Amino acid sequence: MQSKYIVILGSLMSGLGKGVVTSSILKILDFYDYNAMPVKFDGYLNYDCGTMNPYRHGEVFVLDDRSEVDMDFGIYERFLNKNLTGDLSITGGKLFEEVITKERKGGFLGEDVQIIPHLTNEAIRMVEKVAEEKKTDVLVIEVGGTVGDIENSYFIEAMRQFALRHEVIFINLTYSPQLDVVGEQKTKPAQLGFRSMLQSGIRPDFVICRSSRKLEEKTKEKLALFANISKERVIDDSDQETIYKLPLHFMKQGFDRMLLNAMGLKGRKANKSKMASWSKKVEKVIKPGSSTRIAIVGKYTDLRDSYASVKEALIHAGAALDSRIDVKWIESDTLEKGDTGKKLEDVDGILVPGGFGKRGIEGMVNAIRYARENKVPYLGICLGMQLMVVEYSRNIAGMKNADSSEFNGGSRYKVIDLLKSQRGVDKKGGTMRLGLWKCRLSEGTQAYVAYGRESIAERHRHRYEFNNAYRKALEDKGLVISGTTTDGKLVEFVEWKDSFGIATQSHPELRSRLEDPSPPFVSFVRAAKKLAKERL
Ligand code: GLN
Repeated sequence: MQSKYIVILGSLMSGLGKGVVTSSILKILDFYDYNAMPVKFDGYLNYDCGTMNPYRHGEVFVLDDRSEVDMDFGIYERFLNKNLTGDLSITGGKLFEEVITKERKGGFLGEDVQIIPHLTNEAIRMVEKVAEEKKTDVLVIEVGGTVGDIENSYFIEAMRQFALRHEVIFINLTYSPQLDVVGEQKTKPAQLGFRSMLQSGIRPDFVICRSSRKLEEKTKEKLALFANISKERVIDDSDQETIYKLPLHFMKQGFDRMLLNAMGLKGRKANKSKMASWSKKVEKVIKPGSSTRIAIVGKYTDLRDSYASVKEALIHAGAALDSRIDVKWIESDTLEKGDTGKKLEDVDGILVPGGFGKRGIEGMVNAIRYARENKVPYLGICLGMQLMVVEYSRNIAGMKNADSSEFNGGSRYKVIDLLKSQRGVDKKGGTMRLGLWKCRLSEGTQAYVAYGRESIAERHRHRYEFNNAYRKALEDKGLVISGTTTDGKLVEFVEWKDSFGIATQSHPELRSRLEDPSPPFVSFVRAAKKLAKERL
């Protein structure tokens, strides 16, 4: 079957949850057993997200194949429960690079190379290639940014032209503000958005409207009128208890049938067992039997998007254990002054996530020490593992001022250091230890118990490593090295002996799914839940 296409365009402003809407549509198509995949257009000229600051842009998501992509890919994967690939991410940077490389090879001899048709044709070619290679039934294309931006204008123009060659359904995600609870739902901004889309030569087939409360009938009528569609095709996207409910919420409105009909995909019934297992998980998120309080001690806590996958992995683990996770966000700077205990005494588990640069490091080390000394369950991710090693070296193994060479190149005990292979690297893009790495866990360790097997694989994104020169000394002092790369050369997991504390150089949160939660997160939440119960 020829692939069908859905293009999702946002108007008015960012932050409406376009990634969640795209993922919900993908999930609905998956419920109908269609092979649906996303493509994401991002207008920025970075080649990928690898060089972006998570504090500004949100977390950098990493795929199995080493690609560093937009955080929306995390949402797609968490909904679809599939491992995606980097070719689904098409940035302005990649597009321009393709065109310029072709031009230098003489691919356009004699022509003036222009946005239209050269860049737009290239965007179209890239999308067609993905559909063909992945043999998709439906490709769902999310255009980053909003209609009217200069940044994504060539992508939008490419999609207008794309619809001349293929069957395309356009969906506009818009917003209806309401100034107070009793106030009217306003449609004027959405109307301006429609006008802007129509000016780009695109008429939406469906309008999905964000709002804090359920869309009123008269709001729908107005939106339909100005978007030139029937009222049924205006879909409510009001606040739900959890984002994972959105596919079901859309289906309740008959959006699945209407969308499939519009694409000429009639007759197939939704896969009941897939839907039932999703609904069951969603129920667990909405109505948990208990609650667990977890501190995330990080340095980008003001922008929660920086830790999106960690937060979601905790929700997945909580759902698996019938517990709601209440996250206490702690900016690590604030733990540097010695009152660590006060801030941490009410939490059942402490997590130090990934991060770069020196700021806030000592506060994280203090938090880890507190967890170890007070037997509060600890989970360390990437930087959180490196600092678990630093803390142990300083406070148990007597290595005064032990550190990572990332923070203190002058330290006598550089227990975390750059590998030789990283020393000569001066290019920043795509040069870290990235993507999926196989790991062997030692039987009897907490990590082994978490995964229930010896051979595992997790995604990576870091430059520094456990320094093997200190392996023996630290093991002699009781630090457990519970996992290494299959050749034994790189340390992947470390843990404590006397209480729950697992840390990994990898980023297991990146592979956590609602339907397949990450094992170390589940173990961690289980230990925290146990502590919470003991405290009652
Ligand atoms: N900054 C550390 C490194 O580069 C940790 C990276 C991370 O936590 N992702 O190795």
